[in-house]
Amino acid sequence: MIVAIDGPSGAGKSTVAKAVAKSLGFSCLDTGAMYRAVAWLAVERGVPVDDDAALGELARGCRISFGHEEGEPVPKEVFVDGADVTRAIRTAAIDKAVSPVSAAPSVREAMVAQQQRIGASGDYVVEGRDIGTCVFPDAAVKVFLTASDEERAHRRVRQNVDRGVGSIDYAEVLADLVRRDQADSTRATSPLRAAEDAVRLDSTGRYIEDIIAEICGLALAARDAGAR
Ligand code: C5P
Repeated sequence: MIVAIDGPSGAGKSTVAKAVAKSLGFSCLDTGAMYRAVAWLAVERGVPVDDDAALGELARGCRISFGHEEGEPVPKEVFVDGADVTRAIRTAAIDKAVSPVSAAPSVREAMVAQQQRIGASGDYVVEGRDIGTCVFPDAAVKVFLTASDEERAHRRVRQNVDRGVGSIDYAEVLADLVRRDQADSTRATSPLRAAEDAVRLDSTGRYIEDIIAEICGLALAARDAGAR
């Protein structure tokens, strides 16, 4: 079964997706990490972020994998061709490069194919921007998670402090979120938007535990209704 969680940056998707996956015993796929990995590779190799053909070659040729602790459904590490990029993909430089890289149609084609292959291998909570609209349009549960710009920026700053990587300047983080949302929502190929049949949840001022419980409830109801 696929539980798709889409929404803008900092809406709480990662926290919610991990907790829902743990609670349901599903695996968890962070598709943003995959686009960040390709952006990291492009920066490393000096590939211009607007060169669709070269970016497509990179995306098709690299191997993105996730590191799990024994028995843990939620991955702890991200690797590109064997290199551990878990922290490197969270820097402010990659925050900037990832929107143009992920807007490249050839990159999306390669990543969507990989994501569909991974999702076909078992029960997954998949988080991203186009999961319910494009990657898994038949997902059993589709959630579009939002929050106010200010709350999203505060959360992202806290997350960056916890991770010890990325900007911790509130104004800079807020500006980056707004810029990325704008780029992600207006790009030609699979823009950020809610699927028609997505349940819209606004996490502003709500306990994250409530959101997690609500999504688990949707998944259990879908299973009871026969979803697989
Ligand atoms: O989720 P996260 O903020 O790490 O995603 C980083 C970037 O990857 C987003 O700003 C967006 O440009 C891109 N992305 C995407 N499609 C997805 C997931 C992420 O275009 N399914």
